[in-house]
Amino acid sequence: MQYDLLIKNGFLVDGSGLPGYHSDLGVAGGKIAAVGKVDGPAGEVIDAQGLVIAPGFIDVHTHYDAQLFWDPWATPSCWHGFTSVFMTNCGFGLAPCKPQDREYITRMLVKVEAMPLESLKAGVPWNWESYGEYLNALDRRLGVNVMALAPHSTIRYHVMGAEARKRSATAEGIPKVGPKDMAYMSRLSRESGRPVLWNLLAQTWESPNHWRQVLDWTEEAFHDGARVHPLALCERFDLTFTLRGAVFEDLPGWKAAISGSRAQKIANLSNPELRAAMQRDLDDPTPKVFSKRMQDVFVSAVRLDEHKSLVGKHMVEIGREQGKTPLEAMLDLAIAENLDTQFLIRGFQNGDEEAVRDLTTSPYVITGGSDGGAHVAFLCQVTYSSFLLSHWVREKKALTLEQAVRKLTFDPALLLGIPNRGLLKEGMAADLTIFDPDRVQAKEKEFVRDLPGGASRLIARADGYRYTVVNGQVLLRDGEPTGVCPGRVLRSYEQ
Ligand SMILES: [Zn+2]
Repeated sequence: MQYDLLIKNGFLVDGSGLPGYHSDLGVAGGKIAAVGKVDGPAGEVIDAQGLVIAPGFIDVHTHYDAQLFWDPWATPSCWHGFTSVFMTNCGFGLAPCKPQDREYITRMLVKVEAMPLESLKAGVPWNWESYGEYLNALDRRLGVNVMALAPHSTIRYHVMGAEARKRSATAEGIPKVGPKDMAYMSRLSRESGRPVLWNLLAQTWESPNHWRQVLDWTEEAFHDGARVHPLALCERFDLTFTLRGAVFEDLPGWKAAISGSRAQKIANLSNPELRAAMQRDLDDPTPKVFSKRMQDVFVSAVRLDEHKSLVGKHMVEIGREQGKTPLEAMLDLAIAENLDTQFLIRGFQNGDEEAVRDLTTSPYVITGGSDGGAHVAFLCQVTYSSFLLSHWVREKKALTLEQAVRKLTFDPALLLGIPNRGLLKEGMAADLTIFDPDRVQAKEKEFVRDLPGGASRLIARADGYRYTVVNGQVLLRDGEPTGVCPGRVLRSYEQ
């Protein structure tokens, strides 16, 4: 047999969760043609000695709806082993859309998903009106495979016009899932006969064991014949803030001090009585959104050179060095910099490593929630696949390599109803991620200014991914695009 691509001597982890084994893999016509001991003429031979051959990863919650027009690879997802992205989540998309509604739909995506306005204006071709025309426009040039949901907010505006605005839902705030929500989702699953996937379940210090309660409810729902899966990231979430903004609304002393003009705030934060009230907030054991753990508050950026040495240290450490309380040290620093100092709360969500381990290893939890393509100026959670492999498999051994690969491939494929992906076996689509299990990891996050219209975004590249193959063609080699665009819109009627 003639192969387009022949991968030799790899460690094949097929997505099923069964133990991996040394194997070759032959690709022909965009599909997996042979697994096992494979020989024969081939267009390209890849030596995968020491590398894992896995199905391409599936990113289950993204917003690449606009970005794909200027970035058909869907970076950063493709850098972290993803070959398919599931998008148009949360009800927001670019079609159907009448020409006179384009401005409104653009502003909706800017407001709700924090896509940069200048990039949407410069980068979206708007050569469609119907949803089908939109998918066809996308399908002309794709690096990765794309699955898109029906966006209910966009559809409602298309049908109702300005009327839709009067009761427009907004996605602000993160409501906590309660028993009523669980009962509703269980019913939805039972009556539709389909799985329900909701997002996001995270550990917070405000109610540190709530996630466990949700998992108990989830288990009950399964016993009652429903399939309700929470989506959860497997990484700690850090929050950056300055003392100019309002992050501590539920701490009364802090709220009172951080109010008014900048000059007023500086005056308040210098006032000994208001400082004492802020300290009382920290000493009060009632759970609040901020954990009040000053050892989790780090200096992440400073304005003045003389403070450079403080970057990367936490407030308890700085307070000790300066003979002050952590709070005094924080306020003095911020005041000296006209409140421009940037602080970071490490583990604002998912700060409890043991909780994240239990969420990540729970059979009910689907790992994902990258939100790729949205909130690009300050979020980059696409790293979760690399973190799962480097941290939870290699360092902590909380999951086997086979279990982790299954979480990134077969589990989402089965749940989302993708028939011919997520497993390595003959006849399946040849979407492959070939990586070095000893080296795979996310690199440090960095800001780059590479979006249309000159906007910046937060990204993270990765180490250890050697080849990313989409529909039988090598999309990336050592993280760099080869120039091909083998991706497709996956449609439900495809087999
Ligand atoms: Zn979303």
